This record gives sequence, structure tokens and C-alpha cells, in this order.
Amino acid sequence: SINMEEEFQQAEHALQTAGISFEYNNNVSLKMAPIIQNILGMSLRECVTNVIKHSHADKCEAALCEDRGTFCLIVQDNGTGLTKDNRNLGQFGNGLLGMKERLILIDGKLEWVSDPSKGTKVTVTVPNIKK
Ligand code: ATP
Ligand code: MG
Repeated sequence: SINMEEEFQQAEHALQTAGISFEYNNNVSLKMAPIIQNILGMSLRECVTNVIKHSHADKCEAALCEDRGTFCLIVQDNGTGLTKDNRNLGQFGNGLLGMKERLILIDGKLEWVSDPSKGTKVTVTVPNIKK
């Protein structure tokens, strides 16, 4: 099963290998249900892969928070956001769609903001359920 702290360390390794600095804050001490850890872990992997593949960023930041029973994962980069080249693909591809579909299973949601001057920010929120 997936452990978020290990996922963050793998993300750090992958990003640093790609020459992208990574800072993360894991602020969750509550025990997360395994299904939530799995889905948030896969979400982190997909976001990081996208940062490496598409963003041209040199910096990426991530945070995992817990607020009144809701978990929140934020992954932000300082890259190009949607450029002219990838604007037509701005609809969700397989990666983001798959993330959305998995999140529906646990009442989670995905928000995606992309701006050429600020990069891309993905926010995943999931209510804490016991399964
Ligand atoms: P797949 O995930 O199926 O391998 P993909 O990465 O192209 O393919 P998505 O992950 O759904 O598909 O992303 C859709 C598109 O959004 C990407 O093709 C890319 O153009 C754009 N995109 C996604 N993340 C970023 C990012 N961090 N910076 C810039 N563009 C991005
Ligand atoms: Mg992808």
C-alpha cells in the first residue's frame, strides 16, 4: 500500500533527476484510510509526471493538509502553464481524466488552474472516510 511520505520522497527524486527543485510539506498526522492514501499517492505521481513532461518548470512545490476532516493535496509548478503548443490539448488527457475518475470513487474532487505567468496548480480534495 501507498505511504504518502514515501511518495513525496519518490517525487523529490524524480523531480531532482529532471533538474526541478522540489519542496513539500506533509502536514497530515491523522491516519488516512488506505484507499485515500492510494488515490492521493497516484494523484501525486500523475501531477509530478506532468510537471516533468509538460511544464518546463524549474521549481515544484507540494503540500498535503488536513482541515476539519478533509484532506487536500496541492501540487504547483512555476512552468509555462498551457502554452500555444499544448493549448489544444488543454482538455483533460488520460492522466488527469483517470485522476478525476478515481477521485469520484471517494467523493474527491480535482481543481486545475494553469496560467502562463504562474505555471500550473492542481488541487485535490478528499473527505476523510473510514473504509
Ligand atoms: P498521459 O497523462 O495520459 O500520459 P498527458 O500527460 O498528456 O498524457 P494529462 O496528464 O491529462 O495528459 O494532461 C493533459 C494536458 O495538460 C497535457 O498534455 C499538457 O498539455 C497539459 N498539462 C498537464 N500538466 C501540465 C503542467 N504541469 N504544465 C503544463 N501543461 C500541463
Ligand atoms: Mg499526464
